[in-house]
Amino acid sequence: MEHLDDLEPEHVASISANALQLMGQLDVPIIPTNFTVWFAYVLGRSAALRKMINILRSNKRHFDKALNRELYGTFVKSQSSFGDAAETISEELDAILANVRSDLSGAIADNAAHSEELTEVGRTLRSTGDTQLALKRLGEELAKATQRASGLEAKLVDASKELDGLRKSLEEAEARSRTDALTGLANRRAMEIFLRAAQLKAMEQGDPLSVFLVDVDHFKRFNDKYGHQLGDQVLRIVAKYLQEGIRDCDLAARYGGEELLCILPGATIESCQQVAERIRTRIASAKVTRRTTGEEVGQVTISIGVALFDPGESFDGLIERCDRALYQAKQSGRNCTIIAEARLGSGCQTDRTRHPRACDP
Ligand code: GH3
Ligand code: MG
Ligand code: MG
Repeated sequence: MEHLDDLEPEHVASISANALQLMGQLDVPIIPTNFTVWFAYVLGRSAALRKMINILRSNKRHFDKALNRELYGTFVKSQSSFGDAAETISEELDAILANVRSDLSGAIADNAAHSEELTEVGRTLRSTGDTQLALKRLGEELAKATQRASGLEAKLVDASKELDGLRKSLEEAEARSRTDALTGLANRRAMEIFLRAAQLKAMEQGDPLSVFLVDVDHFKRFNDKYGHQLGDQVLRIVAKYLQEGIRDCDLAARYGGEELLCILPGATIESCQQVAERIRTRIASAKVTRRTTGEEVGQVTISIGVALFDPGESFDGLIERCDRALYQAKQSGRNCTIIAEARLGSGCQTDRTRHPRACDP
């Protein structure tokens, strides 16, 4: 969970009390993980969590064990898992470095002893002139030094392997912290980071940047008719079509609930619309079957709002325009794509149609 050190104890107490009251009202089992979710909801810092729970509440969903676990996994645990993993990895790294440091100090001490031995051999040779004895002791010292060097090399090879393992764990934890557990797409946090960077790059380079927001049509009805498990499967299918329909340099993300967002750097509004339309028609003609029984279920359709980023426009402003276009798509009968109106006082939409949908490094 996020750090809450900035909260006054009285504030924490009142949020806790409100969270517990709400959990009681909604019949949410009072266990630590659920409490963390509902505390975060009442605290209101995560817009995505608030939105998700509000939708679920307005749909009168029962917050049963599975749903609470999913909320915890998506909105709370994923925020902290990377931090926890990073902490563990940092401790392991400290241990490896401490070992390497101790091995090296041992090797330095051995080296000092070795030089002293060699000096002693020289002294003996000068005083006794016994070359046989000197050679014998030199040979012994050389053998010891070789043995020490191979011991040290083996230890360093082990440390290097451990470091490789740690790097892999760190990469995996980092990837998990950016990924939505249900769909495998980028999560909300990763999406925000990507979009902000894309907005900056588009402004710096004068390139177009287009995005489209996808919402599954009548999804509530679908869930009611076929159950949430199949609903989840549909979300994964839609996510797969999105991922397959965009380029590697684009990003598909779970914006929240059953809304997914695609960000296409370098794309004009026309090419973005083409991509969106291609994906929409593919989904509409896909045969969705229940995995367990093979039974074919009704057609799945999506509505889409497409918008071209207007340089200087805020993150929220761009998403809002997309959302309005999506709303229009729903009003126009669903299963269609609508282009967002230009930002008020801007009129730059058509200026940018000439840009190619290039994928700059
Ligand atoms: P519309 O065509 O207007 O979008 O209708 P809708 O029923 O899809 O719209 P609404 O926003 O009212 O409902 C969205 C539903 O999506 C409600 C919620 O149960 C469902 N939903 C949101 N997230 C998930 C999820 O992760 N899994 C499943 N199975 N359902 C979800
Ligand atoms: Mg929706
Ligand atoms: Mg919907």
